[in-house]
Amino acid sequence: MSFGRNIRGECERILGKEWVKDDPVTLYTYRCDGLTLYTAPPMGVLFPGTVEELVSVVKLLYQHKISFIARGAGTGLSGGAVPQEGSVIIEMARFKEVHEVDWINRTITVGPGVINLRITEHVHSKGYHYAPDPSSQKACTIGGNVAENSGGPHTLKYGVTVNHVLGLEMVLPDGEHVKLGGNHLGMPGPDLLGLVIGSEGTFGIITKIICRLTPNPEKAVTMLGIYKSVHEACESVSSITRHGIIPAAMEMLDKITISAVEKALKPGFPLDAEAVLIVELDGLTDGLDNDAEFVEKLLKKSGATKVNRARDEAERAKIWRARKEAFGAIGQISPSYYVQDGVIPRSKLPKVLDEIAEIGKKHGLTVANVFHAGDGNLHPLILYNYENPEEVEKSHLIGEEILSSCIRHGGTLSGEHGIGIEKAEWMADLYPRSSLDNMQNVRAFFNPENLLNPGKLFPQPGRCSESKSGTSPQNFPALDKSKMVAAKSGIAV
Ligand SMILES: Cc1cc2nc3c(=O)[nH]c(=O)nc-3n(C[C@H](O)[C@H](O)[C@H](O)COP(=O)(O)OP(=O)(O)OC[C@H]3O[C@@H](n4cnc5c(N)ncnc54)[C@H](O)[C@@H]3O)c2cc1C
Repeated sequence: MSFGRNIRGECERILGKEWVKDDPVTLYTYRCDGLTLYTAPPMGVLFPGTVEELVSVVKLLYQHKISFIARGAGTGLSGGAVPQEGSVIIEMARFKEVHEVDWINRTITVGPGVINLRITEHVHSKGYHYAPDPSSQKACTIGGNVAENSGGPHTLKYGVTVNHVLGLEMVLPDGEHVKLGGNHLGMPGPDLLGLVIGSEGTFGIITKIICRLTPNPEKAVTMLGIYKSVHEACESVSSITRHGIIPAAMEMLDKITISAVEKALKPGFPLDAEAVLIVELDGLTDGLDNDAEFVEKLLKKSGATKVNRARDEAERAKIWRARKEAFGAIGQISPSYYVQDGVIPRSKLPKVLDEIAEIGKKHGLTVANVFHAGDGNLHPLILYNYENPEEVEKSHLIGEEILSSCIRHGGTLSGEHGIGIEKAEWMADLYPRSSLDNMQNVRAFFNPENLLNPGKLFPQPGRCSESKSGTSPQNFPALDKSKMVAAKSGIAV
């Protein structure tokens, strides 16, 4: 599928010829995001450079009832940026302006195409950073982060995207340009901003974001606990939490992941360890070394055979690079991987990790683990060969069984990668029909014709009541959609 001649001509008139693409290479490139198990080519790709251009193309597509979807860097891991129904992709990478830094109020206003790490780079020398740090932060955009409510290793202490965004502007699917939130925390009135953050690009196309800046900690101490068993590493996580300590980050890598990062990056992790646990403490210099000594004792008491402390910033950076580039390093040991994102109560970590190993063994595929242990947010990496259809099929089955296990143990579907296409059908396992209706009514308030990013987040009609894990959620009454639409006025810019 490609643009019809009329639509192409109109788009070229608005954007200029070079920013309208539907050649085979572009369609192939934009057929998937970071989750390569789901692919579908778009009708074409548009690259607006200003809000006015964006509004004009959105109005055009809306008028012709052509579905469309915003895209940032395409690093999403739940198929959120994969076009359904041959949607047009609106690539937001050209919105990469840093509009304003307000040092007194500690905010930065940026375009959605700004890469996450660039925000911190922009303010770091003045003593600030942008706290949510997805492992993909060298590539992903802040627009994608807002859409997915992204987290990262340091969200254990600092919170996720919704805790660091004060306001935004966006274009609704009919072309209306609206403003939500503002320059301050907790603006009066219903929290529409909170609704939009994490709505996975189904409510509007974000064009500007006001982010909070966080002062850099005076000092950080990064430790690497080394373990003979994953269970003992999990016990360390519980022990630290039990003692009321909140580290900035607690991240675990298992033996398979250690072997991959050692091949790719050589951080000096011991190849004979079954697991390593990265624990970072940060804050005021005074007292931090004492806290670190206490944590080191806890790690050893719960089974760490050794605890290495980063001696300087270079050693700290080496440890973090190994953690943040661990997914990529898996390329050293497998042609492809499929990463899951279930969340479980921390107390269930050993049990669920055992079950995951069993599930992999049963289907004959290896499952590696690298995850946000402090949050109970698992990232099992199912290793498969994309050229082997049987392995592709098995990786889907393993993913489903892992999710079932997470839900059975009181967990949830996603910690940070979102629902997208991948888990839309699973929402019926978490929420009763009436709650899903309520959520879709809210989506209909912003996106009444479902032209923006269709097929994402919610089960498709007719499949809503099927439970994939066998759990049965409790029912609540649905909202009356007609009453909600009346509330829409008053937010236009
Ligand atoms: C190696 C690797 C590590 C990762 N680590 C983490 C991690 O630690 N934590 C984490 O949370 N995620 C992580 N991710 C997932 C991913 O990077 C995040 O979900 C990220 O926020 C996606 O940003 P993006 O710019 O790539 O968005 P895309 O993939 O392009 O899009 C994602 C969704 O956002 C929507 N969207 C994009 N831009 C806009 C906009 N301007 N307006 C409205 N909607 C928009 C899209 O429609 C889509 O639904 C990782 C991914 C990879 C590949």
